[in-house]
Amino acid sequence: MTQAQAPGTGPRVAIPQAVVVNDLADLLDVTPVDVIKELMKNGVMATINQVVDFDTAAVVAADLGFLPEEEGSEDGAAAAGDDEHAASISLRVVEEGEDLAPRPPVVTVLGHVDHGKTTLLDSIRRASVVDSEAGGITQHIGAYQAAGPDGRALTFIDTPGHEAFTEMRARGAQVTDVAIIVVAADDGVMPQTREAIDHARAAEVPIVVAINKADLPNANPDRAKQQLMEVQVVPEEYGGETPVVQISALQGEGIDDLLENVLLVADLDDPRANPDRDAVGIVLEASTDPRRGIATTILVQTGTLHTGDVIRAGLAYGKIKAMTDHTGQRIKQAGPSAPVTVLGLNEVPPAGERVVTVKNEKTARAEVTADRRAMESTGTPQIGVTLDSLFGEIHRGTVKDFNIVLKTDVQGSIEPLVRAIESLAMDEINVKVIHAAAGTVNESDVNLAVASQGVIVAFNTKTETGAQRLADSEHVEVRDYRVIYDVVSDVERAVQGLLEPIFEEREDASIEVRAVFRRGRRNSIAGCVVRDGTVTSRSLARVRRGNEVVHESRIDSLQRFQDRVNEVTAGQECGITVDGFEDFQEGDEIIAYHMEQTR
Ligand code: GDP
Repeated sequence: MTQAQAPGTGPRVAIPQAVVVNDLADLLDVTPVDVIKELMKNGVMATINQVVDFDTAAVVAADLGFLPEEEGSEDGAAAAGDDEHAASISLRVVEEGEDLAPRPPVVTVLGHVDHGKTTLLDSIRRASVVDSEAGGITQHIGAYQAAGPDGRALTFIDTPGHEAFTEMRARGAQVTDVAIIVVAADDGVMPQTREAIDHARAAEVPIVVAINKADLPNANPDRAKQQLMEVQVVPEEYGGETPVVQISALQGEGIDDLLENVLLVADLDDPRANPDRDAVGIVLEASTDPRRGIATTILVQTGTLHTGDVIRAGLAYGKIKAMTDHTGQRIKQAGPSAPVTVLGLNEVPPAGERVVTVKNEKTARAEVTADRRAMESTGTPQIGVTLDSLFGEIHRGTVKDFNIVLKTDVQGSIEPLVRAIESLAMDEINVKVIHAAAGTVNESDVNLAVASQGVIVAFNTKTETGAQRLADSEHVEVRDYRVIYDVVSDVERAVQGLLEPIFEEREDASIEVRAVFRRGRRNSIAGCVVRDGTVTSRSLARVRRGNEVVHESRIDSLQRFQDRVNEVTAGQECGITVDGFEDFQEGDEIIAYHMEQTR
């Protein structure tokens, strides 16, 4: 951290457990670009729509001179009450207090191929879809709502396969409250079952197991339960915590029992949301429909979405022209946990993108432009971590678990490797192998690594081409090893921080503002003289007025007479504009600097 304030200073600000970068900027009264830059300085690459956790947001808030407190905690509540700034904030991002109403739990179905995920989803949908006035339901929009046995609604994500699940999580979208793991009674626990369990665990999503195909003559539910125990999923009937229900998805047997158990498990977390705030959601699917334009299926997570609202999903935005529910009925509004399809976005957003409500189209456009610019200046947003960056993250509290996805040539290599790796855990850092399997590194492994901020260790095994491409684009590190010793020593070095890169600020120049020129109504150019050093057009910039830092961003343009130049040296005069800053005053000082990796 470059300029964190001493604890106990600055205005208090209540920050929710998870907050969208854009909202955090609002809370702190700065531009999203400022937040993104602070995050970058702290080694976290995020875009305007990404969610950061409290710990990360707190570092940014502290860097910007606030005293961060977690919303909902006693201190946080006090902060919201006794500080004017925070009070205005808590109106915006409340997910606490009396405004919260129960919402339907969101359920994902995971499991091995052919074990019956699709059949189960179809069977639930057919039996009990809520609002099915239309009778035959033909819409397939990636999610639907069904009524449980007691009439309460559940939302099912209808994109079977844990790729979708983990891909969404990889984008920072934690949508699922409960995961149903389907295990075929005639086949038992298979590799993708184990994988699904690991994915749910990494996401800290509780599991309900459905032992399916109980109708088959060769069904052997007991063997399946034994196998579940071997992967530490202990059924309730054996004293464990996991409900295991026998069903036949094909014949519709046991479905009520299953849904009842899902609701019971969901009740433990008591999912709630505030229906009265602006909607926030997640893109589940989006496509171009030749008749209707771009159709985007959204899961509303909190708030209420209305037709006529302007929404933004990454770089896509627009006014909602029409909205339909999962049965294809036109609706005017949709509350928490409702899946809806909306028309009106100007681009097809990717699945997993966060959806936020924006004041109007003009604001949306401005935000998209800011986001684009931030992306350009930071390069591709980096989500994954590398061994080298990990310690820094751990150190800053943004990562407390060192998660490893381990793929090996043969099953026999797994145990000794896991034992060796996990023995490296230290007091403050958990070193965890969150998924281990024999086989090549596939896309699902990469998604798991992205979602859990982990690295992939490939031990004497190859990485599939598609997986490598995904790893590259998501900045996930796949490390190849041939001997156990190398794995252990690298992980050890990462944990101990020997690979930690350290960035330090290096001053390029100090510059005095001698005059201020206006070009048009907004654009303010500082007429300067460089006191010492050399300012470059790539320098970061801090504008100081007396002892106060009034702005922090980067040099936007550098001019000598009428020409744009790349650098200006000591003693020379020049014109400078600074990104996002229009309020120069004579006598301001600009410190130009860059960040240098010193280790
Ligand atoms: P998925 O790959 O997990 O989505 O599996 P599917 O739902 O496509 O099911 C795979 C096969 O198993 C299909 O032929 C289904 O008809 C069959 N199947 C699914 N559930 C059951 C069941 O409860 N009993 C029987 N006998 N077959 C089932």
